Amino acid sequence: MEENYTPIKKLLFTLEKTGKQYDIEKIKKAYLYAAELHEGQFRVSGEPFVYHPIAVAEIVATLELDTDSICAALLHDTVEDCGSKVDVAKLRREFGEDVAMLVDGLTKLVQIPFEDKEEEHVENLRKMFLAMSKDIRVIFIKLCDRLHNMRTLDAKRPEKQRMTALETMYVYAPLAHRLGMQRIKQELENLSLWYLDPIGYTQIKDDIEKKYGQNRDFVESARTKIAEKLDEANLKYSLEGRVKTVYSLYKKMFGQNKNFEEIFDFYALRIIVDTELECYTVLGIVHDMFNSVPGRFKDYISTPKPNMYRSLHTTVIGRDGVPFEIQIRTWDMHRIAEYGIAAHWKYKSGAQSKADIDQKLQWVAKLIDAEDETKDADEFMHTLKIDIFHDETFVFTPKGDVITLPQGSTVIDFAYAIHSAVGNKMVGAKINGMIVPIDRIPQNGEIVEILTSNSGKGPSRDWLKIVKTGEARTKIRQWFKKEKQAENILMGKAEIDKEFKKFNRHCTEEQRNEILANIASRIGVKDVDTLYSTLGYGGLSMNKITVRLKDEFDRVVKPETTSAPVDVASINKNASPSKSTKNGGVIIDGVDGCSVKFARCCNPLPGDDLIGFITKGYGVSIHKLDCPNVKMNLPKPEYDGRWVSAHWERGANLISNSVFEAMLQIHAHNSISLLAEITMVLADMRVSLISINTQKSGNNDIIVNLTVNAKNLDHVNSITSRLKSIKNINDVTRGFG
Ligand code: MN
Repeated sequence: MEENYTPIKKLLFTLEKTGKQYDIEKIKKAYLYAAELHEGQFRVSGEPFVYHPIAVAEIVATLELDTDSICAALLHDTVEDCGSKVDVAKLRREFGEDVAMLVDGLTKLVQIPFEDKEEEHVENLRKMFLAMSKDIRVIFIKLCDRLHNMRTLDAKRPEKQRMTALETMYVYAPLAHRLGMQRIKQELENLSLWYLDPIGYTQIKDDIEKKYGQNRDFVESARTKIAEKLDEANLKYSLEGRVKTVYSLYKKMFGQNKNFEEIFDFYALRIIVDTELECYTVLGIVHDMFNSVPGRFKDYISTPKPNMYRSLHTTVIGRDGVPFEIQIRTWDMHRIAEYGIAAHWKYKSGAQSKADIDQKLQWVAKLIDAEDETKDADEFMHTLKIDIFHDETFVFTPKGDVITLPQGSTVIDFAYAIHSAVGNKMVGAKINGMIVPIDRIPQNGEIVEILTSNSGKGPSRDWLKIVKTGEARTKIRQWFKKEKQAENILMGKAEIDKEFKKFNRHCTEEQRNEILANIASRIGVKDVDTLYSTLGYGGLSMNKITVRLKDEFDRVVKPETTSAPVDVASINKNASPSKSTKNGGVIIDGVDGCSVKFARCCNPLPGDDLIGFITKGYGVSIHKLDCPNVKMNLPKPEYDGRWVSAHWERGANLISNSVFEAMLQIHAHNSISLLAEITMVLADMRVSLISINTQKSGNNDIIVNLTVNAKNLDHVNSITSRLKSIKNINDVTRGFG
């Protein structure tokens, strides 16, 4: 095996640059070992396979992990891909216990495609969390592995790209976020988005460049001014400007339904200083210089995020009315912000840091715990999404302990987060000393007190509909499972009755028992009573067995009739006639039950001709047929099959209570009263204004970009003609062109 691959030289150089002590001989040995085992294997791109583990090791090196992690990264695919030539025992003899254990952990996280059977996928996730609770380095390396796969995804087939990107978006990026590994998270998100919605991605990227171009001078001047003040205060600092990532803007625009114009923290300046005290000094200085936006100051130094992120955030308004965010932190905080738990891992070593990390990872243990209670894959995914992949709220106990809850958690969740006994005995709650309803959602910084009583009746089944966290739900179910055996059976029975009635299934008692016994054995519960009680306490949800109920009913009750082929399209239509209305009144031909969003580039209105673009995993994005993005992208062969015809539901323009956003561009001579006249016309027509901004065009001309609420195309046309009647206005067009 020749030793002069360039990638390995680059890796060794990177390691040297870190200035850390590495066992270079061991790393070289691991490389030679991997190169020999992967000999003759090639990546889809055509390069030798061993380039991949080397690249992964290179990313691991940027996290400054230890020698064993680098070796494990180099060897991570050997056991899986070269099974006959090597095994874990052999690696243990050659490289020691740690390397063998890490490779073993990585091997067990077998690649299971995202769209394969959900149970298998969940199983894979569970393995990942188990591996993580055993040794967090497994996950660090796994994330680096995924990052390199994403960087080189171009070579894969489109179908593979889609699955990998979806899985990355839904599992790996949130995981990186939860571990505070910001850098890796952002790169994973942006790469995934690029494969999932290339048009949305490009659109936002262009918008960013355009907007940054318009405001470059402003950003530079704000930066210079701040630097002057910091110099005056004799501070040693680093000051850098940045714009948000494409993905974070995409998420804000579609997730919070905001305009590009409405996004506050588009620009951010980051100031890094040496000490915590200096952070607050800097905060005072910037608040002195600019007006701050109320409600946007966040002190993550005194209350760190659960992923250990610390910084001060504030949003201020510059001279031209352009808001921008300022982040202030120390170098230590900065390292943690970039590398998260990995930074902790590398800066401290020994038993103490392990205890520290274990404490930070308590949520992993909790999650695995909660998982044991229910076999339901949907439920597990739900718990995962809510508990891990969401932002958190911090609230206090009356004693001042901080309890972290997923956003949107209620006081019941809070009670169960303290202890199941507190939740089970809860009869009420106080927030900041005032009695509140139990479905109240505490806000950041509030003090929550749970009122309990020993003579209470215990939790109510309704709570299951109120609580947000999997932890609370699991604990409530446990209580019912234990305390209300007889009641559970009745509840479950009633649910089954309802299901039979709903579909007009008549049968004898014996037939019913046979049907249910078959189902019980097929899903692995002991008997019919257990099936009832599992349904009753919510350990199994009805929709998990409806299909089986139908199958069994058909088999047991009418064995002679073969069931007619099912027309899926007509069923779905009948099942939810309101679906298309819910989707904003748009009907997409040949695509059923998927979510619909209106493209931000053209904001279609009822009455406009439409076309849809199937984004990968984000539903169908609806454009105006004459949108410039459509013209540009429709002919591209790589989007073949992703454009679908779409049209407004009949009467959509009559649905008076739905409003749409319309973008209008006004070309006018500038005059003192121009903006006042525009807003008066809008007020007169009772049209609400969402955003307005102006830019100079030529000597005394001005372009006004307006976003307004409108009902449909006719409505917009009448707004346009009223605007055109204003004296200085030359033209009004749709879109910001
Ligand atoms: Mn790999």
